[in-house]
Amino acid sequence: MHSFSYVNGILRCEGVDLNEIANRFGTPAYVYSSATIRDNYQRLDAALSPLDHLVCFAVKANSNIAVLSVLAKMGSGFDIVSGGELFRILKAGGRADRCTFAGVGKTREEIAFALREGVYSFNVESEAELARINEIAGELGLVAPIAIRVNPDVDAKTHKFISTGKSKNKFGIGLDRAAEVYEVAANLPHLKIRGVQTHIGSQILESGPFAEAAGKLASLVEKLKTTYDLEFFDFGGGIGIVYDEALESGSPAWWKQDGAPPRHITPEDYAAAIIPILKPLGLRILFEPGRFLVGNAGALLSTVQYVKQTPAKTFTIIDAAMNDLIRPALYEGWHEIVPLRQSSEEKNPMDVVGPVCESGDFFAQDRALPPLKSDDRIAVLSSGAYGFVMSSNYNSRPLLPEVLVDGGHYNLVRERQTYEDLVRGESIPH
Ligand SMILES: *Cc1c(COP(=O)(O)O)cnc(C)c1O
Repeated sequence: MHSFSYVNGILRCEGVDLNEIANRFGTPAYVYSSATIRDNYQRLDAALSPLDHLVCFAVKANSNIAVLSVLAKMGSGFDIVSGGELFRILKAGGRADRCTFAGVGKTREEIAFALREGVYSFNVESEAELARINEIAGELGLVAPIAIRVNPDVDAKTHKFISTGKSKNKFGIGLDRAAEVYEVAANLPHLKIRGVQTHIGSQILESGPFAEAAGKLASLVEKLKTTYDLEFFDFGGGIGIVYDEALESGSPAWWKQDGAPPRHITPEDYAAAIIPILKPLGLRILFEPGRFLVGNAGALLSTVQYVKQTPAKTFTIIDAAMNDLIRPALYEGWHEIVPLRQSSEEKNPMDVVGPVCESGDFFAQDRALPPLKSDDRIAVLSSGAYGFVMSSNYNSRPLLPEVLVDGGHYNLVRERQTYEDLVRGESIPH
C-alpha cells in the first residue's frame, strides 16, 4: 500500500497536507509514511508466517535512523553492508544479533566492529574473505558465524545494473563450487557455519525467478544442512514494487481490489511461489527486502522553478536534481510525478528536469502531465527506496531534509544541510 492520496484536491501523506511540510521545511524534501512501512512489513511477515522466518530490512534502501527505528519496533532484523550501517542500527535501537552483514568488500575494521557487536551472520562472498574473517575472529578470541553467498545463475529479468544472481555478476560463489568452499570454511577454526545465503537481484516483478532460485539451491542446502548443522537459509531480497500509476492504483492495498488481477508481484504471490520449496528444508528462512518495505512509503517534494519551451519540447525545471534522486539517471528508474494541487486540466507531454549540468539530470521524459508553472509544487512518488541514500553533494547542493509522517503528525528526522555543512572538514593549506 501507500499513503499518498488527494483529499479535497490536495495531496496528503496519511493525515498530513504535503503543502504544510513544504511550507515548514522548504523544498526539495523527502517525506516518508510510517503507516506504509508498518503495513508493508506486516503484510510480508504475515505472508511468510508458514515459515520459521526473520525479515531483515536491507538498510541500504533507506538508512535514516527514524525509519530504522519504525522497523526495529516491529521486530525487524536488518541486512547491513557496512560498518556505518551497523552503527546506524545500534543508534536506531536495532539489535546486532538480528543483523546479517553482506557485501563483497568488508574491511578489517568493519569485520572487527561486527564481531565485537555480535552480528547474527557474516554473509561471505569469497574465500579470501573467509580467511580474513577467520583471522580477525582468532585475534579477538571470538567465533564468527558465517553463511556463504551462493550465486544460483538465475536471470532475475530486471535491469542489468540491479541483477546480481547471474554467474557473470561479481556476487557470491557459483553453485558448482559452493560445496568445496563450505569445506574450506569448515576447516577454519574461528568460523561457525550457520547458514546459506543468496540474493538474485532487485525490482523483480514475477515470482518465476524466485521459485527458480529456491529450487536450484534447495538440494545444496539440504546436503549442507546435515553436514554442517545449518541453522538458516537466507533467501535475500528483491521483491519489486509498483512505480507506474502508483497514485491511481494506490487506494490502500490496490492489489486486493476485487477481481482485478495484480499487475505486479504481491507478497502473497512471492510466498506462494517459494514456501512449498523452502518449508521442507526445516530451517529458519531469512528475507532481506529493501525496496518492498520502503519504496512506496516515500515521496520527494519539489517546486517548479521555470518552464522552458523549445521548438521540440517543454522542459519543466524543478528544484530537485539527480544528486537528490539518481534512479532515473542511474538505471532508467521510472517515478510517478503528481502536482500537490490536483488538476483536471488537459495533460501534455513534457520533460521534468533538474538544474544540474548533465543531460542525465531528468525525472521524466515526454511525460503527460497537467500544465505546471513557476512555484507549483509536485511530488515524485515511490522514492522511499534508493532515494535519499544515494544522494550526493554534486554541484554543491546541500543534502535534503527528511520528514517522517505518522498519522496526523510529522517530524523532521534529518535537517537540511547548510552551506557551512558543505565545507565542513575542508581547509586551505597555508
Ligand atoms: C540490495 C540487497 C538487498 C535488497 O534488495 P531489494 O531489491 O531492495 O529488496 C538484499 N540483499 C542483498 C544482499 C542486497 O545486496
